[in-house]
Amino acid sequence: MRRIAAIDTFCVPPRWIFVRVRTEDGMEGWGEAIVPKRVRAIAGAIADMAENLRGDDPDRIEDIAQRLRRGGFFRGGPILASAAAAIETALWDIKGRRYGLAVHEFLGGRVRERIKAYAWIGGDRPDDVVAHARERIAQGFSTVKMNATPALPQLGGHAIIEAAAARMGALRDAFGDTIEIAVDLHGRVHRTALKPLLAELAAFRPMWVEEATLPENEESLAVLTRAAGPIPVATGERLIARWDFKRLLDSGAIDIIQPDISITGLFELEKIARLAEIYDVAVAPHCPNGPISLAASLQIGFCAPNVAVQEQSLGLHYHQGFSGLPKADLLDYLTDPQPLTTIDGAFLPPRGPGLGIALNTARIIEAATEWHLPDADWRHEDGVYAEW
Ligand SMILES: [Mg+2]
Repeated sequence: MRRIAAIDTFCVPPRWIFVRVRTEDGMEGWGEAIVPKRVRAIAGAIADMAENLRGDDPDRIEDIAQRLRRGGFFRGGPILASAAAAIETALWDIKGRRYGLAVHEFLGGRVRERIKAYAWIGGDRPDDVVAHARERIAQGFSTVKMNATPALPQLGGHAIIEAAAARMGALRDAFGDTIEIAVDLHGRVHRTALKPLLAELAAFRPMWVEEATLPENEESLAVLTRAAGPIPVATGERLIARWDFKRLLDSGAIDIIQPDISITGLFELEKIARLAEIYDVAVAPHCPNGPISLAASLQIGFCAPNVAVQEQSLGLHYHQGFSGLPKADLLDYLTDPQPLTTIDGAFLPPRGPGLGIALNTARIIEAATEWHLPDADWRHEDGVYAEW
């Protein structure tokens, strides 16, 4: 029978939450949730949702997504959103496999032949950043992203700002304009530091400045627009749905939005991308996540023309044994790494049905473990809580 039979959650290293939906007629599909410091809350939300979906038609994806988001009277928040996103993504995977089509074929079909990917570089000293960028260039990437600064106090952070500028300068000295460099502020930078920091960075032509204000500080967007000057402004990785993104788009302050498919869900990401098209705003899907999230995100990148670049997590610092968890990397749970392997820093169109990847289920089951991540609190020098 074409009915949902079971929904299982697998928490696997390095910090990923994989969700499998199975049907009574033997189909299965996969999705991926995030919000890693709330692992048991996510797994619990998925278990609650699974109770309510057993026996339902897996083809009625939009109807199920509406129920998951609007059912239960109270709604919203990243935990429920991510749990729903993982289940909904798995239903798309099942639908694609059932009808023998890649998911993007249901959503308008292919609009491009490749999509550029970017890679993370890290390290606090300029030498580290240059060395890491050199490794990424050797892997074929020409677009990288880095955190601009560690925690930055409200006042008097000039030494930190100078160090951030030195890192960007070292990259430009080493590579000129042969690479694009995005800079992530991670919501760490207060309004007081924004103007001096961005004034310093502008000279090095960042591809964008990301999360220069926290999502709840909408009143700061006008300040950000003035501070960013010529630097394109990007944000949105913590937002959930079109309603959030419309406010951001209407503000006129944002040039690039960064929805995360493991929060928005697959079809909602597609709708958000189409909405942004009206504003001539680019989409750079957020994805420091695992392979299922990336494969799902690529399905939208290949059918929405304003998806300009795709984040991916190969070799990300969190994968090297985060908070005492075992190591694992982007391609480890695939039976065939090819669909998520970049060629000259770009992904090629997914060819397989559904999400276009084949997972090593035995390895996932073997790796699945009970785990949670402690809150790694950051604090300023005076003891005040700081954004991570
Ligand atoms: Mg970010």
